[in-house]
Amino acid sequence: MTAGRFAPTPSGLMHLGNARTALLAWLQIRRLGGSFLLRMEDIDGPRSRPDYAEAALRDLRWLGLDWDEGPDSGGPRGPYTQSERLPLYEEALERLRAQGLLYPCYCSRAELAAVASAPHGLASEGPAYPGTCRCLSEEERQERARRKQPSLRFAVPPERIVRFDDEVAGPQETAPGAGGDFVVRRADGIFSYQLAVAVDDAAMGVTHVLRGSDLLDSTPRQLLLLEALGHAAPRYAHVPLLMGPDGKRLAKRHGGISLQALREAGVRPERVVGLLARWSGLLERAEPVMPSELIEAARERPLPLEPVVVREEELRGMLGE
Ligand code: GLU
Repeated sequence: MTAGRFAPTPSGLMHLGNARTALLAWLQIRRLGGSFLLRMEDIDGPRSRPDYAEAALRDLRWLGLDWDEGPDSGGPRGPYTQSERLPLYEEALERLRAQGLLYPCYCSRAELAAVASAPHGLASEGPAYPGTCRCLSEEERQERARRKQPSLRFAVPPERIVRFDDEVAGPQETAPGAGGDFVVRRADGIFSYQLAVAVDDAAMGVTHVLRGSDLLDSTPRQLLLLEALGHAAPRYAHVPLLMGPDGKRLAKRHGGISLQALREAGVRPERVVGLLARWSGLLERAEPVMPSELIEAARERPLPLEPVVVREEELRGMLGE
């Protein structure tokens, strides 16, 4: 069974960058005849909002990107919502704990920030964790536990090398130990992105992960978790992001690029899809097109390998300015 997914975090309105990733992930699965699953990654409650999740569903339907039902895991069969799946993550933690792969970490933000010399943390997470709490004696642990709720960290085997072949980025070889032991549950009780993604990709039978290249360096961690939980690794394709005219990752500051704004401005979805397809190397020119009309082209063209710089005229042209 082939299955892929689009897994937005509903912490803002979907923009053209997310939409291009969704289109590419959808095309990959539709051309393989698999199931395309949708998963709202709203696990970080304070950052996520239900109205953004609803807007994302509306935006995807508007673009002509549909999704399928996933495997029956005793709950709703999609679109999936991570905040409704907490028992699954808790159960995974239990399994990791039983293997001795987790330990409580009592370090404060200030203590972590002081570790400025460590070079290999993920860009999104700051310096690598130096392992301060990994070898605490029982006494030290109890003493620290009196002062602070701990987070839980996954103990990365120090010598471990993780290899995978990324469909876009090519063969990868990393030593995730250099990035330090990573958090699987925060001190405030929120499960980490790494844990939830690995558990969900496994539970949903995901065989193909296509997502933005900003997540390439998260993949070794997810592979370690999948392995520890006894699941096969999916295939990965990390596509380069769309860049704004200023050479920075396309973002809201580039104006008028949320799908909702485009829809409200009366832009036809076919025009948006045409532009996304051009930015993906699927069309020579941005002609109006529906996603279903691109499946054949996606069969023949390789995935985009280089970051695409979005020109201002293109954005303005789409808005009819
Ligand atoms: N929720 C993540 C994001 O929106 C994507 C997670 C993934 O595709 O693995 O950046």
